[in-house]
Amino acid sequence: NTSIKSPPEPSPLRKAKFFQANMRILVTGGAGFIGSHLVDRLMENEKNEVIVVDNYFTGSKDNLKHWIGHPRFELIRHDVTEPLLVEVDQIYHLACPASPIFYKYNPVKTIKTNVIGTLNMLGLAKRVGARILLTSTSEVYGDPLVHPQDESYWGNVNPIGVRSCYDEGKRVAETLMFDYHRQHGIEIRIARIFNTYGPRMNIDDGRVVNNFIAQAIRDEPLTVQLPGTQTRSFCYVSDMVDGLIRLMEGENTGPINIGNPGEFTMTELAETVKEMINPKVEVITVENTPDDPRQRKPDITKAKELLGWEPKIKLRDGIPLMEDDFRKRLEIRRKK
Ligand code: NAD
Ligand code: UDP
Ligand code: UDP
Repeated sequence: NTSIKSPPEPSPLRKAKFFQANMRILVTGGAGFIGSHLVDRLMENEKNEVIVVDNYFTGSKDNLKHWIGHPRFELIRHDVTEPLLVEVDQIYHLACPASPIFYKYNPVKTIKTNVIGTLNMLGLAKRVGARILLTSTSEVYGDPLVHPQDESYWGNVNPIGVRSCYDEGKRVAETLMFDYHRQHGIEIRIARIFNTYGPRMNIDDGRVVNNFIAQAIRDEPLTVQLPGTQTRSFCYVSDMVDGLIRLMEGENTGPINIGNPGEFTMTELAETVKEMINPKVEVITVENTPDDPRQRKPDITKAKELLGWEPKIKLRDGIPLMEDDFRKRLEIRRKK
């Protein structure tokens, strides 16, 4: 596209940094579930310096405690809805609550985080000439009428519903990313993340894999929300982190779906967790919440072709890894 401006000239300060070996990487929301796993992976590379900013709304310092005090690591308590001045080469912009019960808790704040937060990170990227990656979501497809969802689908989103603060917030965030790209030449990357699970998820944040695993461990009934035929496709967190880094390092702006195409109904998921963790536990049905998408499965053709990426961990291999983590944190051992 010829109307896209060339990237802004790096400042003399940043040019001088090219003589330094280190890459400075900002991770917003780095104290959260996906963010903390991303930080672990980035810190493995000795040439990376990682700065995390987080307001600890849904994340926790505990997720990063193993890095606190490390010379290549910095943790800043900061809310992305306020301007931020740091000098970095890359920005992974994850800050935003991801679980429905948390993003619906203060919907106005969720919108501000998505819109003003992303605007601030783009302003920062523009000032310092950094490349920025946004973790968008499969929720931009809403309750999809196309199945599986590929990136060309514009979605079926309720603009005034209880999930809109998140769905529409991310849609505006994507718009801002592309407008800064076209208008100011900012180097952007957009990942559309599908349901992700793994260790360090907030045990009581209400997301389905957490709920079922925690319920099975605690001997509580697994609560399938009606009708139970709705589907989701679950990606293990190490696969997700791998996809995000490939997207950042590659040449494509996206949006690119990153997720695992293995699709399950919520009843199937409950039965799988029951069989694997606690065959004696009961599976019950409970009321659902409004606007729950009926089906969701990523078409990952683009990720395969453009990033050479596909998920490696199947749901049945990921569940035990998450179970181990939850048992440790809940201090409930396996029964003999
Ligand atoms: P999470 O809630 O564990 O992490 C989000 C982090 O952002 C938390 O540490 C939280 O404290 C922080 N945060 C929230 N608002 C902030 C603000 N205003 N300023 C600074 N920090 C703030 O969620 P996650 O599952 O790790 O999700 C990370 C990103 O991936 C989010 O952008 C989310 O929308 C996206 N995503 C996740 C999933 C999933 O299944 N986990 C699916 C689609 C998209
Ligand atoms: N911004 C920021 N850090 C920076 C540069 C900008 O947080 O290093 C914020 C700034 O406060 C503004 C937003 O990013 O609210 C957008 O910045 P931009 O320069 O694009 O727009 P303007 O300030 O001209 O409205
Ligand atoms: N769900 C369920 N039981 C629960 C929690 C969620 O059956 O205890 C269902 C929910 O109705 C939805 C699916 O699981 O259809 C995924 O919900 P989640 O909140 O994990 O993620 P999202 O809706 O954002 O995909």
